[in-house]
Amino acid sequence: MSQLSLLETQPVAPSAPPLDRLLSVVVPPLEGEFLYSFDPAVHGELLAGRIVSVQFGRRSVPAFVVSAGSEREAAAVRDMEQRAVRVKPILSEAPIPAFRPEHLEFYQWIARYYAEPLSKILDLAIPAPAPSKPEPFLRRGAAALEGRLGPAQRSILERLELAGGWLSLSDLRRAGPAAAATVRGLVERGLIEQELRAEQSPNASATPELLSLKDSLTAEQAGAVSAIASHIESPSFASFLLHGVTGSGKTEVYLELIVEALKRGRSALVVVPEIALTPQLIDRFEKRLKHRVALLHSSLSGKERWDSWKGLLSGSLRVAVGARSAIFAPMKDLGVVIIDEEHDASFKQNEGIRYHARDLALVRAKLCACPIVLGSATPSLETFHNAKTGKHSYLELTHRFFSSPPLKYEMIDLNRVKPWEMPSKGVSPQLLTGLLDTLKAGEQAFVLYNRRGFASYLQCSGCEHVVGCPHCSVTLTYHRNNNSLLCHFCGHSSPPPVVCAGCGAREPIPEPDKPEKEPLFTQRGAGTERVAEELAALIPDARIAKLDRDSAKSIEDYVEILRRVREREVDILVGTQMIAKGHDLPDVTFVGIVDCDVGLHMPDFRASERSFQLLTQVAGRAGRRDKRGKVVLQTRVPSHASLKCTASSDYLAFAAGELQLRQALEYPPFQRLLRIIIAAEDKTVAQQWARHVSEITQAACEGRGVSVLGPAPAPLEKIRSHWRYHILCKAPSASLLQSIMQRIKSALPEQKKARLLFDLDPQDML
Ligand code: ADP
Ligand code: ZN
Repeated sequence: MSQLSLLETQPVAPSAPPLDRLLSVVVPPLEGEFLYSFDPAVHGELLAGRIVSVQFGRRSVPAFVVSAGSEREAAAVRDMEQRAVRVKPILSEAPIPAFRPEHLEFYQWIARYYAEPLSKILDLAIPAPAPSKPEPFLRRGAAALEGRLGPAQRSILERLELAGGWLSLSDLRRAGPAAAATVRGLVERGLIEQELRAEQSPNASATPELLSLKDSLTAEQAGAVSAIASHIESPSFASFLLHGVTGSGKTEVYLELIVEALKRGRSALVVVPEIALTPQLIDRFEKRLKHRVALLHSSLSGKERWDSWKGLLSGSLRVAVGARSAIFAPMKDLGVVIIDEEHDASFKQNEGIRYHARDLALVRAKLCACPIVLGSATPSLETFHNAKTGKHSYLELTHRFFSSPPLKYEMIDLNRVKPWEMPSKGVSPQLLTGLLDTLKAGEQAFVLYNRRGFASYLQCSGCEHVVGCPHCSVTLTYHRNNNSLLCHFCGHSSPPPVVCAGCGAREPIPEPDKPEKEPLFTQRGAGTERVAEELAALIPDARIAKLDRDSAKSIEDYVEILRRVREREVDILVGTQMIAKGHDLPDVTFVGIVDCDVGLHMPDFRASERSFQLLTQVAGRAGRRDKRGKVVLQTRVPSHASLKCTASSDYLAFAAGELQLRQALEYPPFQRLLRIIIAAEDKTVAQQWARHVSEITQAACEGRGVSVLGPAPAPLEKIRSHWRYHILCKAPSASLLQSIMQRIKSALPEQKKARLLFDLDPQDML
C-alpha cells in the first residue's frame, strides 16, 4: 500500500475537499506519496502523468501526479482527518503533461525492481520540461530556381524538398550542416521561406506513404519479419532473439517491422548503443519511413529532448530512436520494441539507478502487449541462454546480404615472432603486409587497439615503479600529443614526473655536448596514438585517421571522422572499440587487431565474452560487399576460446563452452547477482563498514539459498579518492535479491562517512 503523509501538521479544515478534487503526487527524490487538492474549474480533469508544483515546507517544488480521485485518495483523506491535518491545494495553474497514465505501471515496476522510490525513477525517466521558444522554420519558397547554387545551398534545398513541408532549423541541421549565412542567402533569394514558430511541426503528412521493401527481403529476412509482425497484427507480447551475422541485414528487418507498426497506426521504439546514433542511421530511418524520427540521447539540448518527448507523448511522432534512456520514452500505442546490438555494455547504466535498458525493454513490451526484438551478431550469453531455454523465439540470419565470401582469418602468435622480426613494436610482418596489400588494391583498412593514448603507462627503469593516479588505483596513461599523464577514470591529469615516487631517482637532465642518457621512465604498453604513429612511420604515404574518445570528444567529431573515412579521405582508421560498432563501409576489406589480449585478462567473469564480441564485431567491418575480407589477429594466447571461436566464426561453440563455465561457477545466466559496493574516503571506515554490511547481508541471506562472497577490495580499489569494497550475492532469482536489498536497507543505520551502492544484475565487476 502507498504511504501518504504530509510535512506540516495543521488544524483540521471544517471539511476535506471532495474526493474528485484530490490527487496524490510523488516528489523527487522522496519515498512515498503526498496528498494535495486541485480545482477542476482551473485545472480541468487531472490525471496521472502531469507535472504540478506544490508547496513543500516553505518551498515550491515540482511533483508528479500519480493518481487522482481514486480509492487511494479516499483512504488517505480519512487518515488525515483522523490525524487532523489539512490538505493543501497545488500551486501550478497549468499542469504539464509528462507521461502517459498507462505507463505508470512500467515506472512502478522499475521502482520495485531496483528498490528505489518511484519519484526517483520518474525524475530519471522524464526530461525537464523546456519552455517552447519560437524558432525558425523553413520550407521551399515559391521563387523559381535562377542563377547558380553552391553545393551547400543545393544540399539544403534538396533536404527541404524531401521533407515536403516545414522543417525547423534544428531539424535541418540534424541531417547535415546548414550554416546560418547559407540559409539567409536562400531566404533573401526567395528560394526558401522562413517563419518563427513555437511548436514542432508534426509529420508533414498525417498518413505518410510507407515504403515497404518487402519484395527485396531475403528469405531469412522475410521469415523473421513475418514471425515478428504477426504479433504486431494481433497485438500480443512475444520476444525474439534476432541472431544475424554482421551485415546480414538486421536493420532492414527492423525497418520493415516499424513500417508494419506505423501502418496500423501504432508506434515503434528503437534503442541502439549511444555511439551508433549517427546522422547516417537517422537518415536511413527517415528516408525509408518517410517519417520524422524522434531522437533521444544524451548530447541533445534540453529543448530538443523535450520537443522529442512532447511529440511522442501526443502521438504526433511515432518512431523513437535513442540510446539507453530512450527506453522510458512516452510511446503512444506501442507496436514494437527493438533493441539493436542487444549485447552492448552501454545499455547498462553504471551510476545512480543502475538499470539495464534491455531488461527493462522486455518488461515494457510485456506491459504494452507488443513484440520485442533483441538483435545482435554476438548475443549476450543471458539472451542466448533465454532463447535456448525457450524464453525468446530464436530467429537466425545466417548469411550476409551481399553475397560476400567468408572472412579469412590469420592468427599471429606473438610469442613466436622474434622482436627483431617485428617491423615496429606493435606491428607484425603479417599485419604490415596485409595493410600494404589493401592499400595497393585501393581499399581501406581498420586497425583496432582497444586502449587510448600513446603508452599505457610510465615505468621507472630503476625500481619498476609504475606511475599511478593519486586518486584511483589505476596506472596513468601517457598521452604524447600534450606530454601528459591522464587517468581514464577520474580525469586527473599531470605532467610526467621527474622524480620516481618508488625509489627517489631523478630523471637525468640533458647536458650539452654530452651523450644523451637513458630516460628514467620508459613507456610501456601501447595505445591508439602510438599504433597510429608506428603505422605512419611504416607506411608514410598512407592517410591515417584515429577514432577514440580523445579524437572524438563530441558526436560531431565522431561523425566528421566517419565522413572522411566514407568519402575515402582516409586509408587506415586506427581506433578503440569505437571502430567496431555498426559501420557499413563498402571499401573496407582488411581489419588488423594489434593486441587481442587487452581485455582478456580483466578480473571480470564476462572478460572472455566481451573479447569475443569485440573481436567478432570489428572483424565484421571487413569485406561487406563482393570482395573477400581479411582479418589479422595478433595475440600471445592463440589457443584462448575467445580467439579461436572468433577465427572460426563459431558463436555457437563459444557460447556452449562459456555457458558450461558459467554454470560450474554459478554465474549468470544461471544465477542472478547483486553487487554491493561500499565506498569511503577513509580506508579504515570503508573496511569496517564493509565488514558491517557483510554481516547484515550474511544474516539476511541465511538459509535462503543465497551465497555471499566478500567483502573484498574491488578490483579498482580506489576511484576518485574513495576506497571501495564489494560484496557479491548469488541467488537463483532476482526477487530473492530484492528482498535482501530491502532487508539491508532497513537494517542499516544512517552512515554519513561511507556510501552504499546496490547494483542488481551488475555488468561491471571492477
Ligand atoms: P546488419 O544490421 O545486420 O549489420 P545492415 O542492415 O546494415 O546489416 O545490412 C548490410 C547491408 O546490406 C546494408 O548496406 C543494407 O542496406 C543492405 N541490405 C540488407 N538487406 C537488404 C535488403 N533486403 N534490400 C536491400 N539492401 C539490403
Ligand atoms: Zn584517477
